[in-house]
Amino acid sequence: GSTRPSLICREVGARYGLLEACRNISLQVDPGEIVALIGPNGAGKTSLIGALNGTVAGSGEVLLNGNNLMGMATHRRSRAGLATVPEGRGLFPTLTIGENLALGARLAPSTERAAAIEEAAGRFGFIRERWNTAAGSLSGGEQQMVAVAKCLAGRPTVLLLDEPSQGLAPIIVGELAEALNGLRTTGIAILLVEQNQTLVSITADRFVLLAAGQVVSQGGRAELADRERMAMAYFK
Ligand code: ATP
Repeated sequence: GSTRPSLICREVGARYGLLEACRNISLQVDPGEIVALIGPNGAGKTSLIGALNGTVAGSGEVLLNGNNLMGMATHRRSRAGLATVPEGRGLFPTLTIGENLALGARLAPSTERAAAIEEAAGRFGFIRERWNTAAGSLSGGEQQMVAVAKCLAGRPTVLLLDEPSQGLAPIIVGELAEALNGLRTTGIAILLVEQNQTLVSITADRFVLLAAGQVVSQGGRAELADRERMAMAYFK
């Protein structure tokens, strides 16, 4: 166990042609830590995720265990240990849960795949029971958890989660929060883009607030616990 950060972003920017969606973003996420990336619509949160995983044109440095991923193709960043659950979850809806996890596990070394799938499945109670169910027929909350499990099966160092609470009922958001908290023990580093204050307040160790494409503030659990102030300043 190294204690150095899993993910370090240095002066990261994202752009769509001439439009600069975010710039000069520096942050880090340590092993076992959950950092929430919050801010209003259009702040640049999803664009930053894209710059990190290579789906949006990016600049700056993305260091994963010391290696700079910026400039690498998206699939190589995944193979280097950077997993993403995108908005919309990224599952193959006609494939079963088991098949989705098997696809996720292809990023793990071949000798570790079976164990990685078992471990990922074991983190969510319903997964084994519904192993042969098509992912697309699950509830929204179940699909979100399977999407996380699919990533975990690839044994990533860092997990990027984009708005996992989207479309979920409040009670399901609570279950998802518990599941994410349970991932800390794996040592994975999680960067969580989220507008749902409940999910953030239950899970996040720290937050980074983006507005108009820049980091405007950062803080820890003490500030996150001040729900009224946080709601006014940072959540929709
Ligand atoms: P939201 O919660 O609404 O998704 P966000 O913080 O994730 O907000 P982004 O989606 O990253 O914000 O958007 C940041 C800026 O980039 C906005 O001005 C947006 O209009 C622009 N943008 C996003 N996607 C594209 C795209 N594919 N092409 C051009 N501009 C885009």
